[in-house]
Amino acid sequence: ADSFDILIVGGGAAGVGVAASLLRRQTDLKIAIVEPSDKHYYQPAWTLVGGGAYDIQKTVRPTASVIPQGATWIRARVAGFAPHSDCVQLDDGRELGYRQLIVCPGLELRWDQVDGLEATLGKHGVTSNYRFDLAPYTWQLVRSTPAGRALFTQPPMPIKCAGAPQKALYLACDHWRRKGLLERIDVEFNVAGPVLFGVAAFVPSLMKYIERYDTKLALNSNLVAVDGPNRIASFDVKDADGKVSRVDKPFHMLHVVPPQTAPGFIRASALANAGGWCEVDPATLQHPRYPNVFGLGDVTSTPNAKTAAAVRKQIVVVAHNILAVRNGQRMPARYDGYGACPLTVENGKVVLAEFGYDGKLLPTFPLDPTVPRRLAWQMKTVLMPWLYWNGMLKGREWLTRTNAI
Ligand code: FAD
Repeated sequence: ADSFDILIVGGGAAGVGVAASLLRRQTDLKIAIVEPSDKHYYQPAWTLVGGGAYDIQKTVRPTASVIPQGATWIRARVAGFAPHSDCVQLDDGRELGYRQLIVCPGLELRWDQVDGLEATLGKHGVTSNYRFDLAPYTWQLVRSTPAGRALFTQPPMPIKCAGAPQKALYLACDHWRRKGLLERIDVEFNVAGPVLFGVAAFVPSLMKYIERYDTKLALNSNLVAVDGPNRIASFDVKDADGKVSRVDKPFHMLHVVPPQTAPGFIRASALANAGGWCEVDPATLQHPRYPNVFGLGDVTSTPNAKTAAAVRKQIVVVAHNILAVRNGQRMPARYDGYGACPLTVENGKVVLAEFGYDGKLLPTFPLDPTVPRRLAWQMKTVLMPWLYWNGMLKGREWLTRTNAI
């Protein structure tokens, strides 16, 4: 079997970024990235696409163009791990060996956990900004809805970019408000959990927008089934005593954010914790049972906001620590849980929510982070995509030192 100094599982934001960062530190490392897809996506802009503020074609590039020079791209899917013998199995039957392993295959969107959803996605007014092919359909629906009921949903946590479900809502409502249609559209936000946003400091600013857009906020309301042809969404609604009842709601447009779990091959592996996520130490990002295994990105057990902004910080921590372990040294780097969620509350303004473990606020700028700002919109729509492609994926740490990708 082929064997590598460092084998990376997944060539998304985390895999490509960490490979580039490692090769900048040490050019002679034999590194391979296992990645099945020939396309690499900049997912954070899909919210903008769904709001008519970004070109979908600018969110995708060939994987071949983002694999760092000096790294080997293995186009396959990892099927399983054998951490005791330092090898992974691929879906084509091959095995790959490694001295050190980095696990970063992202998370799995569980469309299958909502009855009837997969069959109706992209039709009957049912859409989601969580897919490249559907984000443009969101904008098509928003533009063509003159009246009626628009439902937006948010599944149980954790999900990637916890603010994205409400970003879809705000950008749609802002469009309808500008066109004078909002009064004729009955907007409802169904949130599976008990709060609008997990970090309390940002809730008052966001509630102002919920009110401005005259949105009905339905907390503890979890989407469980969709009947596309009849345009009915079914929710499990929990009351104050914890009693759950089924409520059917008709709709003209439904924006769904699917439930999300660790990928099946991670859940089934020895690397997983009880919840199925790839277990790592929250500070060092090293696996607690296999010291030559590290993890980063959406797949890990760490309780940070699952965002590309978090990945950007984690890349540096993993790069430092994995090389230290390789050289028999103590791990020098610690991750503080930093993540960022630029909340697009209207077209032209963003609340830049940046926070670490336990909801600790970690603003980049010495300004009140809860205030919506035009400058933050410019960052989100222009600066951050540029920094992603040219800084983060290239391992140019100095370029990405500003927070919030
Ligand atoms: P990914 O980038 O998803 O990459 C995982 C890779 O692993 C994929 O290329 C996949 O093909 C590969 N893979 C999967 N299975 C296997 C396998 N078996 N073997 C090998 N490879 C495999 N973040 C922000 O910072 N700010 C935002 O505003 C923001 N908004 C978002 C809005 C939306 C709608 C979405 C969907 C995401 C948003 N994010 C945002 C989150 C951000 O995109 C993710 O946190 C980030 O991409 C995580 O990087 P990752 O490498 O862990 O996963």
